[in-house]
Amino acid sequence: MSGPIGFVGLGIMGKGMVRNLLTKLPGDYVVWNRSAAASAELAAAFPGKVTIAATAAEVVTKCKLTYSMLSTMEASEAVFDGDNGLIQSVTAGKTVVDCATLSPERMQKISDGIRARGGCFLEAPVSGSKAPAEAGTLIFLCGGDENVFNNSDVKAGLDAMGKTSFFLGPVGAGSRMKLVVNGLMGTMLNAFTESLVLCKAAELPQSTLLQVLDLGAMANPMFKGKGANIINDKYDANFPLKHAAKDVRLALALADQVGISMPVMEASHQQYGSVLDAHGDEDFSAIMKADLKKK
Ligand code: NAP
Repeated sequence: MSGPIGFVGLGIMGKGMVRNLLTKLPGDYVVWNRSAAASAELAAAFPGKVTIAATAAEVVTKCKLTYSMLSTMEASEAVFDGDNGLIQSVTAGKTVVDCATLSPERMQKISDGIRARGGCFLEAPVSGSKAPAEAGTLIFLCGGDENVFNNSDVKAGLDAMGKTSFFLGPVGAGSRMKLVVNGLMGTMLNAFTESLVLCKAAELPQSTLLQVLDLGAMANPMFKGKGANIINDKYDANFPLKHAAKDVRLALALADQVGISMPVMEASHQQYGSVLDAHGDEDFSAIMKADLKKK
């Protein structure tokens, strides 16, 4: 790849992702993060390799290929849109790969803005949390122009950060798949925590429930990992509850658009809403703290 690679958004996920790029694809990097500390920490860990840009727009100005991993729709709008936004600095030959979980409509708007300026765009939301981001084992769910997906520089980046990349179709398709996956994940964890509460209320050991589940057809890494943390009352955010609530909300909006009723997910959405203010910054397993007492 000629020239530096750009990365915007060094949060829980971006931090691990960019470290995989830096380790596996040697070269120079230009990064931007809203809070300066994350950029400074990265630059210190990779001396001489990381330039800290003053704005996200400057990252795109300096790099042919930029990855972005911002948190919410509001964050995306704040960084990408407007006169000084990232999109305004796109020129012909620039490529932007957005890995955040956003609505399909938002991804389409970003794509339209970038393509109108002669740039290339790929949506590439990820399945996998903090640990896969650090291990470079994410699963990318891509949508957009298949030539961009197959571009050797883009592919090298996705391969450095992930174990598999799927191409789903035009822009929006990757985000729709991501919302189907995360709608299920949020609902599934909510059902799991309800049963943990029931187990304790029925005077049974929760640790035994975890063992029983792990030995049978319902075994999965999420129940195992989150379950162990929950019974030890640990809720440090790998995937913040506020983002899980966002994804369940976006998945329900998708269901609405395609005329599907999702009563189980709808109930779960209400549960996430009930703890959002008090526990939004904790891990989404803090849905465990929803009040289930019969009134
Ligand atoms: P995060 O840690 O909460 O934040 C990601 C980044 O967004 C940070 O760099 C943060 O900057 C920036 N940001 C937030 N609001 C901003 C604003 N108004 N203006 C500019 N920057 C702003 O999120 P994350 O967990 O890494 O998740 C990133 C995306 O991946 C989300 O869309 C999430 O749904 C998705 N995702 C997350 C996981 C997971 O397990 N965490 C898994 C799969 C997908 P600061 O550092 O300054 O706060």
